[in-house]
Amino acid sequence: MIEIRQLHKHYDTAQGRVQVLKGIDLEVQAGSITAVVGPSGAGKSTLSHCISLLEKPSSGQILVDGKDLSILSGKALRAERRAIGTIFQNSALLRRMTVAENVALPLRNLGVVHHEMEHRVAELLERVGLADRANSYPGELSGGQRQRVGIARALALRPRLLLSDEATSGLDPEATAQILELLASLRTDLGLAIILITHEMDVVRHIADRVAQLDGGRIAEYGELR
Ligand code: ADP
Ligand code: ADP
Repeated sequence: MIEIRQLHKHYDTAQGRVQVLKGIDLEVQAGSITAVVGPSGAGKSTLSHCISLLEKPSSGQILVDGKDLSILSGKALRAERRAIGTIFQNSALLRRMTVAENVALPLRNLGVVHHEMEHRVAELLERVGLADRANSYPGELSGGQRQRVGIARALALRPRLLLSDEATSGLDPEATAQILELLASLRTDLGLAIILITHEMDVVRHIADRVAQLDGGRIAEYGELR
């Protein structure tokens, strides 16, 4: 289970301190999807960067199965970061690498042996429905396919939490539906906890179990959808 407790984040700027997150509490059970929605400026990106451990919160905790990851740095952070897989709006694939090489990257960085890596990559591409595109380059794929490669890469290290940061923004409705269906299947088949950060309310209605409405750095409303 993922628990975010009293997360605060401020930035010190030339104009003074900007308090962006003002005490966020959020719990996401394994096998469930929580959406975080909110208007531009609400703090969604900042929250996303804190949860994916790209930025350190000013205070508060990010607990994965009881372990606070927000206080780690260096080697310990690198080791624990794999508990959280992130998919981004632009999928962030490397253009000069094939689909298979992109998905293999996290495994390669970890020093996973070659045959194990090949096996994992094949399994991951199968899971996202792109087994036949292993040797394609990102530029040869549609936006939705690229996003599915991004999902396969995010799953490579078997995270507990999958964080989707505006992953369907910019996709057409059909590709969006496919990505949402895939995320719903990952929740069910792998028991992943999923956090969907989005400004698209439609996306939320389809698959989220719970919705947190972020406004002015606080959770203004929190509700169950099913
Ligand atoms: P959202 O993703 O919901 O649009 P953001 O997290 O991008 O919201 O931003 C929330 C607020 O925090 C905005 O007012 C923004 O100007 C401010 N902010 C974000 N990052 C920084 C930063 N690095 N320095 C100062 N202010 C920031
Ligand atoms: P096993 O323990 O034999 O790997 P699991 O039931 O844990 O079996 O997983 C079933 C399949 O799903 C396995 O192929 C595993 O690699 C894959 N899998 C399990 N959890 C994750 C995860 N969080 N991310 C990606 N793949 C996963």
